[in-house]
Amino acid sequence: MTTAAPGLTSGLAERAVHAARAHRAADPDGFRRRHDNPDRWNRWARRARVARTIAAALQVGVDGVLVTDDPHRQYRTRTGPVPGDLITVTDPVTGRAWRFIPDFTTPGDGWLLLDRCPDCENEVPVTRVATLADLGEYLDPDGDSPIADEARDESIHQPGCAFGLPTLGG
Ligand SMILES: [Zn+2]
Repeated sequence: MTTAAPGLTSGLAERAVHAARAHRAADPDGFRRRHDNPDRWNRWARRARVARTIAAALQVGVDGVLVTDDPHRQYRTRTGPVPGDLITVTDPVTGRAWRFIPDFTTPGDGWLLLDRCPDCENEVPVTRVATLADLGEYLDPDGDSPIADEARDESIHQPGCAFGLPTLGG
């Protein structure tokens, strides 16, 4: 998603071709293989809905959202493990990328923002986000955003990190 998207005054065909090229460049494997089998097409279509939902929640264009395989997280299903969703929202104004993973306590409606651990610098889920205001509360120095329990999982931090806590029963 490097070149600027054609504006809404461009025809649908031009915007569609741009969208295909941008997706092919950003996630070549995921885009090329989306028709491989029904499971892949289902995942592709489901991720399109995820992109629409988070774009609406954060009040950004859906073309700034990319949902790809999460290289670090898999989920068990009846048919075996599947890669999780890694959601990248690119701010068209600053170019900054914000990354999210699904929040399974609010499926389809909320996400966990990934950010650097202040101690070990690993990228960890830090806070729950369902609206633009949730993100703002986390970013606002005067805000009071609770840190998600998921942030404390020792296994996602470097050994000895002060923020990691042993998981229950682990
Ligand atoms: Zn850490």
